[in-house]
Amino acid sequence: MQSALESALLQLESAVSVLGLDEGLHQLLATPRRSLEVAVPLRRDDGTLEVLQGYRVQHNLSRGPAKGGIRFHPRTDLDEVRALAMWMTWKCALIGIPYGGAKGGVAVDPRRLSRNELERVTRRYASEIMPIIGPEKDIPAPDVGTDEQTMAWIMDTYSIHSGYTVTGVVTGKPVSLGGSQGRAGATSRGVMYAAFSALREAGVDHRRVRVAVQGFGKVGGLAAQYLHDAGCCVVAVSDVGGGIYNPRGLDPAALLKHLRSGAETVVGYPGTDTVTNSELLELDVDVLVPAALEGVLHEGNAAAVRARFVVEGANGPTTPDADKILEDRGVVVVPDILANSGGVAVSYFEWVQDLQAYFWSEDEVNDRLKALMESSYAEVSQLAADKGLSLRTAAQVIGVGRVADAHRTRGLYP
Ligand code: GLU
Repeated sequence: MQSALESALLQLESAVSVLGLDEGLHQLLATPRRSLEVAVPLRRDDGTLEVLQGYRVQHNLSRGPAKGGIRFHPRTDLDEVRALAMWMTWKCALIGIPYGGAKGGVAVDPRRLSRNELERVTRRYASEIMPIIGPEKDIPAPDVGTDEQTMAWIMDTYSIHSGYTVTGVVTGKPVSLGGSQGRAGATSRGVMYAAFSALREAGVDHRRVRVAVQGFGKVGGLAAQYLHDAGCCVVAVSDVGGGIYNPRGLDPAALLKHLRSGAETVVGYPGTDTVTNSELLELDVDVLVPAALEGVLHEGNAAAVRARFVVEGANGPTTPDADKILEDRGVVVVPDILANSGGVAVSYFEWVQDLQAYFWSEDEVNDRLKALMESSYAEVSQLAADKGLSLRTAAQVIGVGRVADAHRTRGLYP
């Protein structure tokens, strides 16, 4: 199966060939500007010491400070973080926000750590990457396995070292600490707008579609809820424990409440059949939202996908091999850098509010997000139609093209 980095590099290659960029520029865009690898020593609650690996990669800084999440996941490594950082560069350029791309990660399973251990890992990792982050340099945010509490700890650690409070160093913070209204649900809301744009374009009424969501977490959980509230029928969802299916529809809000009250997985929820994560991807639905990890749609299962629309809540869920198979079968894939860009869009709004110390209402945030998602979708779909490209290649061409332009206009130093 193609790895995240192989996928990101192949996608870049397609955009480079459509844009006709020369080999030198191609190489520059394929290479991360900075990669920092750090040791994160953790004192466990029982007194023993463990040394974890941490990373922060700044892929490109041509259009502004680096931006991107931090992931806590046992299988994260430098290559994965490089791929994720590259996708952030194209994503920010595509939606026209003034950032380059970055990503960070710590190879750890946060579920096996106590809250105190998690706090120590976060603060030590934040201190180790402190030389390269900052509101004008590189602004982290949540990703898989991290949340607003993680961001609060990073903001606090950075601020203590600086000697004053710097809210703009991270986004996705709690609203009480300079976070933005609407940030928590922003990625999910954006996924819904992207899905609706694709459905509208195909002449499909969203109130008649059946949806399956892989990954009932921060992104997938609220995406399922928003889609359900807007009139879609969400028939299946899953998490690390497995999936559940009810052809008559699920109630995502009730399911979220069930998890908040202590259930570890959606599996076993009353009135549902159990399915595996891979079975979920092949269910007879109209819209599939992969909202977990990379590479879940690959050469081995893409032909079995029955959905007509794949809306990528996750980063990199579809490998280039799977993309080809889906495209040949006429499946519309709304690519990650477009479909899940609502998160970084509202991160940008949060950073702007922090820098101005002036905060917006939730309606204002949501209205701006909707406008940005719809105009970005329209731009991608127009280019795709004009040039006969898939939505993925069109989105990449716009993102990569803007970064290449910025680089050329700035010129190469020295
Ligand atoms: N982790 C999210 C993403 O992959 C959000 C990044 C951000 O807000 O900076 O887009």
